[in-house]
Amino acid sequence: QGEYGTGGSPKLEDIFIAVKTTRRFHRNRMELLLDTWISRASEQTYVFTDEEDEALKRRMGDHVVFTNCSAEHSHLALSCKMAAEFDAFLASSQSWFCHLDDDNYLNTQALLKLLSTYSATWDVYLGKPSLNRPIHASETLPNNKTKSVRFWFATGGAGFCISRKLASKMVPWASGRNFLSTSELIRLPDDCTMGYIIECKVGGQLLSNSLFHSHLENLQLIPSTQLTQQVTLSYGVFENKLNVIELSGPFSPQEDPSRFRSLHCHLYPDTSWCLQPLHW
Ligand code: UDP
Ligand code: MN
Repeated sequence: QGEYGTGGSPKLEDIFIAVKTTRRFHRNRMELLLDTWISRASEQTYVFTDEEDEALKRRMGDHVVFTNCSAEHSHLALSCKMAAEFDAFLASSQSWFCHLDDDNYLNTQALLKLLSTYSATWDVYLGKPSLNRPIHASETLPNNKTKSVRFWFATGGAGFCISRKLASKMVPWASGRNFLSTSELIRLPDDCTMGYIIECKVGGQLLSNSLFHSHLENLQLIPSTQLTQQVTLSYGVFENKLNVIELSGPFSPQEDPSRFRSLHCHLYPDTSWCLQPLHW
């Protein structure tokens, strides 16, 4: 057992879970997550947002972090939040960092099972590649010349995890203000910046895993019988259509458009609000 409890099978306590959100999603998106998967992982989950919110604070206490990042969808605003997430992980004593968007369902049991096949004392970067090839970018050099770089990255919208060992090697480019400056060098979003630091600066590599899902893939294609084994799921719009997992119940699509409440009931049937005989 290492300094951070890095050996053997990880426990939920060994994972630092960071969820990125913004003020306009506190009500709808965050309440759904708090009612479902976060209720089973509240000790290790921290939410990073951009505006003070008493209601959210009442539900999460000091697990909601009000960053000073602006509430925009700009690269800089999003990288500012990722930097805050990463710094909070570095300051923690946990052995795994997992990032999620506020439209992700995290199955903590499936995550633990997956992480148990790795060690946080190795360089591990797990997630779903955004593209089926490396991304090409141009890095700005100090002399204002540019260098062409290529690397793989895990799409932030499907969630990804990084081991403590790898995270500590990323510090010179990813901690504090460094994340923003690195992000400016390649002028790409936060999740790309993570991949760039890991592959081009640290020499690590993305381990592609098919158990992570974003709403940029057709979620209907996941067989219903395999939904409870997936590490992350999502919901949203894809090719102008509502993209959600296919699950018959217990809740109707009207009551539960994201299907997250229904999935949660399949995973944790003992949840009080799942015991609704009328729906079963
Ligand atoms: N987000 C944010 N600030 C914004 C817009 C979005 O922090 O101004 C967060 C949002 O809460 C979510 C992630 O960024 O966790 C992705 O946003 P969204 O799902 O709306 O967009 P997508 O990129 O998936 O289409
Ligand atoms: Mn999304």
